[in-house]
Amino acid sequence: MLVTELAASAPVEAHTQIAGVYARSLPMSSTISIANSPASARFSGLESMIGNTPLLAIDYEIGGRRRTVYAKSEQMNFTGSIKDRMALHILRLAYAQGSIHSGDTIVEATSGNTGISFAALGRALGHAVTIFMPNWMSRERVDLIHSLGANIVPVTKAQGGFLGSIRMAEEMAAQRNDVFLPRQFSNTANVEAHEQTTGPELYWQLRSEGLTADAFVAGVGTGGTVMGVGRFLKKMDPATRIYPTEPAESPTLSTGCKVGQHRIQGISDEFVPAILQLEQLEPVIDVSDGDSILMAQKLAGELGLAVGISSGANLLAAVKVQDSLGDDAVVTTVFADDNKKYLSTDLLRDEPVKPHYVAPAIKLISFRALGRVCRACTAVRD
Ligand code: PMP
Repeated sequence: MLVTELAASAPVEAHTQIAGVYARSLPMSSTISIANSPASARFSGLESMIGNTPLLAIDYEIGGRRRTVYAKSEQMNFTGSIKDRMALHILRLAYAQGSIHSGDTIVEATSGNTGISFAALGRALGHAVTIFMPNWMSRERVDLIHSLGANIVPVTKAQGGFLGSIRMAEEMAAQRNDVFLPRQFSNTANVEAHEQTTGPELYWQLRSEGLTADAFVAGVGTGGTVMGVGRFLKKMDPATRIYPTEPAESPTLSTGCKVGQHRIQGISDEFVPAILQLEQLEPVIDVSDGDSILMAQKLAGELGLAVGISSGANLLAAVKVQDSLGDDAVVTTVFADDNKKYLSTDLLRDEPVKPHYVAPAIKLISFRALGRVCRACTAVRD
């Protein structure tokens, strides 16, 4: 949607509030004060390395029609994934509220990127970190978490896999009084991190091109990204459609329980997370894991965008949304991480093409990176 159309359709009140909402929502350090904490300098250093990512405008052709999809380049964060935003926000809140103390061990259950983020941020802030993780995650994830000085407890299917990892993290916290549990699947600060950073950045980057989002799509791990970005975009324009995405091979969101297996690491972790409010979202878009692998391979091999498998899934989901909303619809998503955590996986192998796959029909043309957000300028512009 063009901004001029938005201007005609949205309530005047919403417009007069835009700058204020943005100003309130972006500088998190001003809303959560840790000014008197010894950790303050460390946090402000980390803030410069997390978020405010470029927005990529990716031009492609499908069935002879030319289209553009917009994706936040989240692989450019401190540890190479979108999860840095959530980890930083949860830790900063914990410091501000006094729920974490120096000497505490950070303990989390994760399928990988969250573990890498908490390991890196935990070490940067001087905390020990223990990660409970299903034992089928990629070798690179395990090695990276180890390299960041964290302790990993691999959890087998027999021990309960992902749900077992969460239970074991809770048990460890119950047995000790020096443990901080971020609880990414139920902590509303996870949603807030995206509502306060990813969403506003995306919104203002589009505005710099005279556009607003018709839709946002994102694969669901914890649901923090889809709920948080969705909440901000809908606040700015209630007509924006927000679509959760899941692997066709493992439709947990559509069925409510764990079904099948899939290769899109980081999404569909066996259960419906507490922070995900499906009733506030559009119907779930499903994408095949093989199709997502082919799409991620194309992004790297043809455009030089070295992203992970869930980024391929997100792009395919965005293409499907454009199929239904129209070629000119402004459809947005995220590239959640880079491809370096998947070098030992099927992402680097020949992936068989199946007849229903969409990636082979997509001709990637080029991409353009829209600049990072200038917080001061955008806050005063409207
Ligand atoms: N893609 C990847 C690679 C991830 O690691 C994650 C987080 N688990 C997601 C997508 C989904 O993000 P969220 O947890 O915010 O739903």
